[in-house]
Amino acid sequence: MELKPAGIEEIMRFLIREAVVFPTAEIYSSKQAFSGFYTFGHLGTLLVEEIKRLWRRRFIWSKERVYEISGSILTPTIVWKASGHLDSFWDPIVFCTRCNRTFRADHLIEEKLNLKAEGKSVDELTEIIRSNGLKCPVCGGVLSDVRRHYLMFKTKVGVSVEDNAVLRPETAQVIFLSYPRIRNVFGKPPFGIAQIGRSYRNEISPRRGLFRLREFEQMEIEYFVLRDAKCIPFSREEAERKGIVGEDLRYRPKCMDCKRCQVNNCPYFTEEYRKTLLRILTREAQLKGSEEVVEITADEAVKRGILPNEWMAYVLAEEVRFLTEDLGVPFNAIRFREMLPEETPHYSAGNFDLEICFSFGWKEIVGNAYRTDYDLTKHMKMSGVKMLEEVNGVKVVPHVIEPSIGIERTILTILSYAYVKAKVDRKYDWLKLHRKVAPVKAAVLPLMMPREYAREESKIARDIWRRLCEETEYHIVYDEKGSIGSRYKRYDQWGVPYCITVDADTMRDNTVTIRDRDTRKQVRVKLEKIPAIVTNLIKGRIKFSHLE
Ligand code: AMP
Repeated sequence: MELKPAGIEEIMRFLIREAVVFPTAEIYSSKQAFSGFYTFGHLGTLLVEEIKRLWRRRFIWSKERVYEISGSILTPTIVWKASGHLDSFWDPIVFCTRCNRTFRADHLIEEKLNLKAEGKSVDELTEIIRSNGLKCPVCGGVLSDVRRHYLMFKTKVGVSVEDNAVLRPETAQVIFLSYPRIRNVFGKPPFGIAQIGRSYRNEISPRRGLFRLREFEQMEIEYFVLRDAKCIPFSREEAERKGIVGEDLRYRPKCMDCKRCQVNNCPYFTEEYRKTLLRILTREAQLKGSEEVVEITADEAVKRGILPNEWMAYVLAEEVRFLTEDLGVPFNAIRFREMLPEETPHYSAGNFDLEICFSFGWKEIVGNAYRTDYDLTKHMKMSGVKMLEEVNGVKVVPHVIEPSIGIERTILTILSYAYVKAKVDRKYDWLKLHRKVAPVKAAVLPLMMPREYAREESKIARDIWRRLCEETEYHIVYDEKGSIGSRYKRYDQWGVPYCITVDADTMRDNTVTIRDRDTRKQVRVKLEKIPAIVTNLIKGRIKFSHLE
């Protein structure tokens, strides 16, 4: 199937026009307000809640031993000293010496020179800029040397004279801080700790609407697993054979068939997940300059050593199912790209970004990392609190596998494949949202035709609406304002899958019409069956065509 993601600008225009999301403090000028901050309006807030509900159902509620927490956003600086963010969480920037504009050096090089720049040092980037004669893309002025721009927002808690607190740049560290307490209550690993919450990064150039923000929301899980100390986490010989020098985590070998410890023994990796197909862009393919993905079952991907272990394979399979089955994203719009060694964070023994085919290229919406024992070891050393478990007589620090999903990028993903432009099949643009993620599942609309019926009609319609609210678990709206055509348009634009209309015939024969958003077909059904019909349609137990 050919992929046709909607344009990001069109999507953003639609979202702002319909007040789904809009820039915070937009009533002030762009000089007074900051970019990279958005407010979610009514539909936006509902959509975010629906995404979270579906994610929780899949990743938390249907799994044994995944626990959810909700931690503080403002955190002591020492946490970030321990995690390494204080020293290493920065982006390279350059200034134009003429117009003073600031740019992210690696992005500028990638865009203008088409060279890979991620992971390079500031000196290397300066050298690339100088040797290629790269100038300011706006005014053509000379660019400065590349500098570090630290991404964390710092502040003061209490009466401290110095900054002593940080707005968390990721939710993960707050999970690590909670590990000892959760472990004491719920027992030894394996288990997962999940968290949904806001994170903050002082990005240099927030752009593409919701794609790069300074305040955004993440849905993260840290799965804690125990590694047998006999499993050699890093084989120097193998690295040397591959021509790699140094004890670098990023070259740790894969678990493959080893079942000795929990790292390659994921209880959630059942038959259906093993059989799930994944599209993976391997390091090997990228080094050859190829974009060709391998399409392979999750099971095969571990056996062939393409993925580091079963937990990673389970996580990727669950993400594919979440995106395709719950959010309606086409399967071939999703790929997993193994990060190249220079892009892989220092703490990781393998990163697999879930990338989506957007109108502006393949971009990451989920980061999946095998963080090993890095974070707990760091916090253990800094805090003095022991986080060790005994495995076969040896004390080990639990290892961690982490999926981290950005909610705003998930929204852009959904809309890239649900936004239908005006004039494609109707005069107006609308949202073909998957029934599961549509934040409003149905709208009840009295037709209001002959005067004498109007009051009665509105009463019946309100009664149906109340019954739907009581008997289904969904958000259903009631609306009697405007012509029926304008109301169908409104709810198509909200992506509401079904509209229920009450008309003069309802009074005669106790039937209502139900309209399918995608086909615009309408059928008459018995009024008392409406809650069951709506529930069955949304749950996918019946198709609309069954009603015809
Ligand atoms: P990271 O910790 O950088 O791997 O980020 C994990 C996920 O958080 C990404 O895949 C994004 O979906 C989301 N994310 C990270 N940075 C931003 C940002 N500046 N704006 C919006 N979403 C972000």
